[in-house]
Amino acid sequence: MTKVNLLLNLPLLDLYQAAAGLGRANMSSMLAPQADRVMALSEWEDRWQEGRIGFHRPQVNKMLEKNIDKVLNGRTGVRFFFPLCGKAVDMKWLADLGHSVVGVEISEKGIRDFFEENNMTYSVETVASLPGAKVFKSSEKNISLYQCDLFNFSSSIEGQFGAIWDRGSLVAINPRDREKYAALIISLMATDCRYLLNTVLYNTELHKGPPFVVPDEQVHTLFGSHCSIELLNSVEALTDRYRSWGLDYFTEIVHLLIPKTS
Ligand code: SAH
Repeated sequence: MTKVNLLLNLPLLDLYQAAAGLGRANMSSMLAPQADRVMALSEWEDRWQEGRIGFHRPQVNKMLEKNIDKVLNGRTGVRFFFPLCGKAVDMKWLADLGHSVVGVEISEKGIRDFFEENNMTYSVETVASLPGAKVFKSSEKNISLYQCDLFNFSSSIEGQFGAIWDRGSLVAINPRDREKYAALIISLMATDCRYLLNTVLYNTELHKGPPFVVPDEQVHTLFGSHCSIELLNSVEALTDRYRSWGLDYFTEIVHLLIPKTS
């Protein structure tokens, strides 16, 4: 971004923050109960091994389906990035539509389950530039899943992407890693990238997470200097699962982020 652009964008950001002045006080009190929560990678693997994967959905995500035209923006054969992909069936859906998918997931079980449950054969290779990592590639579809810590992944491995679908990812990483996460995601965005981001809101006094709450205002502080940000949907989604956590509301928010240089 040029210096001029940066300067031009500042007043807008200030304006946003001033308008959200009240929200800012709310934001810190909203974030405080979860700020120090840390999930070790081994805890995620335990969840996979024990089948405690309530985050997984057997159907294609409604928010993705609803907004796919905005993400594609007329393009075909788009390269999608799935941070913290789990075994999301959305990856197969996109590959069936002719797009390609690169995902990153720490759980080898999650990755193998994805291919096996979708009746896909796959190969496994080591990754020269990522010691300890493996890449699982579908033999028929254009899907490559890297088994590694997301924070070891970079644009030197698969280049940049034309789209990112972030469901259960920004909300799943430890809250203290958000700035690092935003920097990584920005570095993976091609200039024409369209980043669909699903976040959640609920009363953080009532549930420790994950998923962790990411207020809209924080989406702006994390990505606002590099991306234009559009709020697409805000949907009340309280289900029995969330009621059983003691929650009284559970809102799913979707933003579309586009690099300012595009
Ligand atoms: N996006 C998927 C999975 C969400 S749950 C979905 O919507 O279904 C979060 C996933 O991220 C888990 O599968 C967990 O194993 C994985 N994970 C958590 N931290 C990670 C990290 N630092 N690097 C890679 N994978 C991670």
